Amino acid sequence: MIHPISFIKNKPELCAFVLEHGLYGFLIWDTNVGMVYPSEIATKSMGIIPHQSFPSECLLNHSGYKLDPKYKPNDSFFGRICFDPNESAGFPFHFHSKEIPVDGKSYRILALDAALKKNDENQIPIIQSEMELKSVSRLLDQMANLAKIGGWDLDLRTGKANWTNVTKRIHEVDDDFNPSVESGLQFYHSEESRTKITNAVNALLEMGTEYDLELEMVTAKGNQTWVRTIGRAEYENEKIIKIYGIIQDINDRKKWEMALASQTAILWSFVEHAPAAVAMLDQEMRYIALSQRWIEDYKIPMSKEEIIGKCHYEIFPNIDEDWKKIHSRGLSGEILKCDEDIWRPPGWEKDQVIQWEIRPWNLLSGGVGGILMFTRDITESYETKLELKHAKEVAEKSYNAKSEFLANMSHEIRTPLNGIIGYSDLLAETLVDTAFNEYAQIVKQSAHTLLNIVNDILDFSKAEAGKLQLAEEPNDLKKVILESIRIMDIQAIAKGLDIRMELDGNIPKTLMFDANRLRQVMLNLIGNALKFTEIGFIECKLERLDSGKNDEVFVRISVKDTGIGIALENQKKIFDSFTQEDFSTTRKFGGTGLGLAICRQLLNLMKSELQVSSSLGEGSEFYFVIPFRIPEIDLNLESNFSSPAREDSVAMERNSNPKGTKVLVVEDNLVNMGLMKNFIKRIVSDVIILEAENGEEAISVFQKENPNIILMDIQMPVKNGYDATVAIRSLPEGNKVPIIAVTAGIIAGEKEKCFAVGMNDYLSKPVQKENLKQILFKWL
Ligand code: ADP
Repeated sequence: MIHPISFIKNKPELCAFVLEHGLYGFLIWDTNVGMVYPSEIATKSMGIIPHQSFPSECLLNHSGYKLDPKYKPNDSFFGRICFDPNESAGFPFHFHSKEIPVDGKSYRILALDAALKKNDENQIPIIQSEMELKSVSRLLDQMANLAKIGGWDLDLRTGKANWTNVTKRIHEVDDDFNPSVESGLQFYHSEESRTKITNAVNALLEMGTEYDLELEMVTAKGNQTWVRTIGRAEYENEKIIKIYGIIQDINDRKKWEMALASQTAILWSFVEHAPAAVAMLDQEMRYIALSQRWIEDYKIPMSKEEIIGKCHYEIFPNIDEDWKKIHSRGLSGEILKCDEDIWRPPGWEKDQVIQWEIRPWNLLSGGVGGILMFTRDITESYETKLELKHAKEVAEKSYNAKSEFLANMSHEIRTPLNGIIGYSDLLAETLVDTAFNEYAQIVKQSAHTLLNIVNDILDFSKAEAGKLQLAEEPNDLKKVILESIRIMDIQAIAKGLDIRMELDGNIPKTLMFDANRLRQVMLNLIGNALKFTEIGFIECKLERLDSGKNDEVFVRISVKDTGIGIALENQKKIFDSFTQEDFSTTRKFGGTGLGLAICRQLLNLMKSELQVSSSLGEGSEFYFVIPFRIPEIDLNLESNFSSPAREDSVAMERNSNPKGTKVLVVEDNLVNMGLMKNFIKRIVSDVIILEAENGEEAISVFQKENPNIILMDIQMPVKNGYDATVAIRSLPEGNKVPIIAVTAGIIAGEKEKCFAVGMNDYLSKPVQKENLKQILFKWL
């Protein structure tokens, strides 16, 4: 048996080892002999007799190993000490072992660290509590380390202060640091932290007031860190004898908190200053966040801070059930929105129109955390929209009224003009070779001029309203231009002027365009040229330009004169409606200032632009370039292409002179009726003219008389021309008779409508003898 004292003497590493690990004492093991010494705690804890020596066969079970001399277990292991090789029971322990040479001999020290199971409670009560205390304090130590919690105290009687290791580590001071109240306080650099801790320590020392603070400090190594520090007082006979506390490194948490706080602040300021009413609510409809606009839009008499945490229904106690339903749908995960919601907030004098959207927001852990509400007060824009809509309706109404007025006016003015023109024609024919013929001619001319002005105004109004439409058809360009020149030639000759024509041979004969409208432009331009020229000539020129395409040609058309010219500064404004070069023009030359404006609009429809180049006193040139489409059918090859204007009326007159023909004239205006009858009698000999004042009469006359042709007015009382045509077409024999529309033709789509209801042809008012003749010969 080795004496422990001599054994342990001068063996500080052994002491340290045992002290560190040997909660339950220790055993000294001679590798040759066996256990040579059990410490007193070890004997108690293992239930062995003190100072009993064990034979070397004594076994240490450890996963089937014996502790024999060769067995050198490592630093720590679990096992049992057994006295009998057959015995499997024994006290289970956690061992730490170390080999230590003493006086040339090798010993193994087994430190019993922890009993794993208590076999006999009575035998080891002291050790147990000792062990627990030790293990608890070690646990505390470990926890303190892990949690970075250090302790400190200050004995006021001795003035001695203590810092635990962790406290020193937090402050990054050396182990031999000498703590005191003053030295402790000097780690707090910032004004705020220094003041807080100083006041707290003073209050603790003087009155025992506890403190719990989170402060920023700077360690001995100059590192900035955050700590939580708690201070308390210990009393004896109502006197403070000691102050103590803990200090915890909370730098990581604080940094994280601060980052979070700054993120939250960013989010907050975003919501707060959002230029819309936004609110975030939780599952109980309590406010979490809201924008300033929310308060303003809903006129909530509270501050943001007062609103937060309050229930939405507490703030709006009168909110209706519909809204509550919408909210609860949002809270169950639905996204809802409305672009125009009109409601009357309680206490308001007028409706509010809002646009709103409600969508759920989700918790990190999943599930709906509440709702986000977004609303926008669109009352103002809604009202503006309504006003605009109303204004538009009014404008449309007045526009419709204007169109109607124009249509009516056209009818009303054209009807008497029809009479004037027609009868002055007849008059002139009757009064040949008398002085009255000249008067009749003048009346006729004036009526024509008046008709042209009316037509101009109507055209212009239609163009302004965007109702002017082109009827593009394959037409002979050269022919249309020549026709225009021929019409104006009489005036030119009268003025002693010559109208020349220069034609580019490269222009295809047939092109797609609205012949009437192009003729209108040419007549206007040539008319102006004649009007403003006294000496010289007028030249119409057609020039082909390269379009770069196969199915399109560009043609530059110009009308040049040697007249008075236009001052440069006036060249732009003459294209405006009702504008002339200067006011003297009207006095000298007459005119309405509409012609060029209409030309410009018509040319725009033809994807062209009217331009002018002119110098005062030398003359003017009006020109434009039209992109013409080349049609697939060529007029030259298309022999059966028919157009009344193109047929030779003289030839027709020769080959057929219908006798005993019945012509039904449907016309409500007596003057026009008389005129038509007169014309017809002059065109067709041996004719029976039947009359009807309206559509209704026309039908019955048709049934009785079965006429060869019907000339049908459109606008009539009782039954109009369209309805009458439809009715006649449905009668037996009714689809054989040619029905010719006779109309003012100012209403858009009128011509198309005539064909759609089953009419065969179209005659424009005022009816001219020549046109009527062509139509009659064509259809009889
Ligand atoms: P109107 O001829 O009815 O007055 P226009 O619109 O046709 O209206 O023409 C507007 C004005 O442009 C004319 O009044 C005249 O001052 C000027 N103008 C037009 N054509 C010519 C031209 N060939 N030579 C000189 N001035 C012209």
